[in-house]
Amino acid sequence: MKEQPTPDTDVVIVGGGFAGVAAARDLSRSGARVVLLEARDRLGGRTWFRESPLGRPLELGGTFVHWLQPHVWAEMTAAGLELEPSPGVEEIYWLAGGEVHRAGMEEYTRHVVPGMDGLTGLAREAFPQPHRPLPLTELAREADRTPLTRRLEQLGLTPEETEVARSRWTLSFNGSPDEGSWAQALRLAALCGGDWRMMSEANRAYTVAGGTGRLLEAVHRGSTADVRLGVTVTAVHHDAHGVEVVCADGSRITARHVVLTLPLNILDAIDVHPPLSPGKQAAGERGQVSSGVKVWMRARGRIRPFIAFASDDYPLTMAGTEYEQDGDTILLAFGPHSAKLDVTDVHAVQAAVRQWRPEIEITAVDAHDWTADPLSGETWFMARPGHLEHALAELQRPEGRVRLAGGDYASGWAGYIDGALESGRRAAREISTALEKEKETS
Ligand SMILES: Cc1cc2nc3c(=O)[nH]c(=O)nc-3n(C[C@H](O)[C@H](O)[C@H](O)COP(=O)(O)OP(=O)(O)OC[C@H]3O[C@@H](n4cnc5c(N)ncnc54)[C@H](O)[C@@H]3O)c2cc1C
Repeated sequence: MKEQPTPDTDVVIVGGGFAGVAAARDLSRSGARVVLLEARDRLGGRTWFRESPLGRPLELGGTFVHWLQPHVWAEMTAAGLELEPSPGVEEIYWLAGGEVHRAGMEEYTRHVVPGMDGLTGLAREAFPQPHRPLPLTELAREADRTPLTRRLEQLGLTPEETEVARSRWTLSFNGSPDEGSWAQALRLAALCGGDWRMMSEANRAYTVAGGTGRLLEAVHRGSTADVRLGVTVTAVHHDAHGVEVVCADGSRITARHVVLTLPLNILDAIDVHPPLSPGKQAAGERGQVSSGVKVWMRARGRIRPFIAFASDDYPLTMAGTEYEQDGDTILLAFGPHSAKLDVTDVHAVQAAVRQWRPEIEITAVDAHDWTADPLSGETWFMARPGHLEHALAELQRPEGRVRLAGGDYASGWAGYIDGALESGRRAAREISTALEKEKETS
């Protein structure tokens, strides 16, 4: 590409999830001209709060937020947004040894404690500054190399305790915990002061009142970016002078910098010339662990509030009551393998719920299969062994005028809305500093 005195814009941001929207807002506030290209017909990416055929608006993607998440919390405070507590549960079901068990929270917790303590007890030692995981401590390096379930086997738990721990981590990974690293568990617990109970709370206890769409609007407010929906980017050419972004409709936009916010599992969906470094490509090829589904269900009648857990041997790893709806109950569930459960098939979902509760009748389902969606290819980022040692720093390293940003590349809450905000804001800061320097030298 030849030197261009006036490119079409200063920055092109590819992707309008939380990372892209935060980067666009910060950059435009700093005076940069920004074009944000989003392939979908809406902003929000892997968050999507919308009216549901089940009778009320529902969150199809990212949902739960917490005050332990600093970037989310700053936006919530600035916008005056409130939390909405999730409903409580009165009974817990879990599958272990092929049998359904049922108890109150206290008894269930007795089975959970040894596995959670064993897997997260060293969190603060491994990650003393959890928002700055690199350079790795010796312990973090060892945990990064160790598959989570290998560590679990070393804990000397009873078979039931092991299966209960496996279920909880199948839910966290939204995939097989055999594929995840022990460091992933330590890192999340470290973000919660080393307390796995707070970690569970952060994962499930609160939503944004009015939906994640309100948080998205709050982040977007004040942005002067030129947002173009329904535009799929297919290629990026870059050199020392600038970038050229090629769209599926053949249009091209030139800019000084580009930010790619694609999830790790679809990083190869855009042709970058010259190509991204071998380290980035290898990280993209290995991908991350989550390959599951989230599904909402309407069940006939009122159901006593419950939550249920199962390991990755089952199509659903968690199901629980969320709302009452005109005399019926709305349930939320997660399954570890999108390929093993058709979330649009009410009969398949019904059968999966009956693994715990044969009497429940599911009358309708609502879901978006993010793993099967070519614009996401995953649900939320969860690290494979070796990710911290071999991939994170490289994924965060800009290549000339090309930067990756997104929840998958965050230093703190990677895999969360908070991580998307953190990463998008970091990219914006780095680019606005670079633009300032370029202005001085031009
Ligand atoms: C089912 C589910 C449940 C979750 N639960 C939670 C939760 O409870 N709490 C939490 O904090 N997080 C949760 N997450 C994770 C959270 O939603 C994500 O980490 C976060 O939203 C990622 O934001 P992002 O901007 O990094 O990526 P994305 O939201 O994926 O944004 C990337 C954008 O790029 C667009 N794009 C992709 N390719 C192209 C292209 N070629 N051209 C143009 N645009 C393109 C996509 O359409 C997308 O809009 C959940 C995610 C899912 C799917």
